[in-house]
Amino acid sequence: MKNSYWQEIKRRKSNKIMVGNIPVGGDSPITVQSMTNTNTADLEATINQVKSLENAGADFVRISCPDQESSFALKNIVAETKVPIIADIHFHYKRAIEAAESGASCLRFNPGNIGSRERILEVVKAARDNDCSIRIGVNAGSLEKKILEKYKSPSPEAMVESALMHENILKDLDFNNYKISVKASSVLLTVEAYKKLALKTKAPLHLGITEAGGMIDGTIKSSIGIGQLLTQGIGDTIRVSLSADPVEEIKVGFGILKSLGLRHRGVTIISCPSCARQGFDVIETVKKLEKKLSHITESVTLSVMGCVVNGPGEALMTEVGFTGGGKESGMLYIDGNRLMKCKNDDMIDTIVGYVEEKIREKENSKKNLS
Ligand code: SF4
Repeated sequence: MKNSYWQEIKRRKSNKIMVGNIPVGGDSPITVQSMTNTNTADLEATINQVKSLENAGADFVRISCPDQESSFALKNIVAETKVPIIADIHFHYKRAIEAAESGASCLRFNPGNIGSRERILEVVKAARDNDCSIRIGVNAGSLEKKILEKYKSPSPEAMVESALMHENILKDLDFNNYKISVKASSVLLTVEAYKKLALKTKAPLHLGITEAGGMIDGTIKSSIGIGQLLTQGIGDTIRVSLSADPVEEIKVGFGILKSLGLRHRGVTIISCPSCARQGFDVIETVKKLEKKLSHITESVTLSVMGCVVNGPGEALMTEVGFTGGGKESGMLYIDGNRLMKCKNDDMIDTIVGYVEEKIREKENSKKNLS
């Protein structure tokens, strides 16, 4: 069931590229990615972290390749994991070639920063030969000297010029399997740069606010920056950068997409902040429900409301709903209809049971359709 006000976001028409077996751009779902923070060459730690990110729903995982040991380690990491791996390369062209040959699905590197034309040709050939895409990743903090001299500071125009300079190198080589990002730690600078870039290229855009900060500040900055762009139809893949466990980045990424109705994964809980009218402890209940429902990947909407002021209204717009306010009990709703009274003590298990029931219904109807 949808909100009474529901406006479909019209997405910018971008080229569709492939990152491994996952499409990015065009009309493909907006993907969510994160990055490992282990020592890449520590295979056990890196593989475990990639797997945790896979379980959290990551569509891609980026891994730094600062040295040869790391780019060679990608071979084992790719073999042991399912999600397409993006190799993060800075400056050294040989790492890019090794990463492409080790099975990376994408190279994050800027062709204009790796030196001679021969080197660029070699990297692009390795990418082409190994079905590997490229992300041009412009960062306000590391713009080319020439561009900085021209613009005096890392302005949106400077970032776009840098991105287009790298893009033209790939275009001249007839390499089209690439996406672009223009990130800054300032929300306003980032948003303006992407808006300008979106008018100049058909390439899919990878969105992110770089170095956004810790869990709370970083989530706020990323949501405002990425959210503004997404509502304007800009963006094909996102990465939330947090100084926190990378799994949190995936959760926040999906949270942003869910809040705009752009992609659904897992249970979306609509819950009130609670107040003196609450018929049960809303905050504790939501915490417990989040934990008990965290394994669910199918999309289900659930409202958990403290009383009848807004509870029945929210229940109308969710698939499963619970509204408190009775004597030690509340009302359970399914698809907006009152189903039964439920004791507060039984509420959590009952809600979990009905959410699981909803998922079974959805799976069955999918099976019947196929
Ligand atoms: Fe308070 Fe009821 Fe609103 Fe929850 S739904 S915040 S309990 S008035």
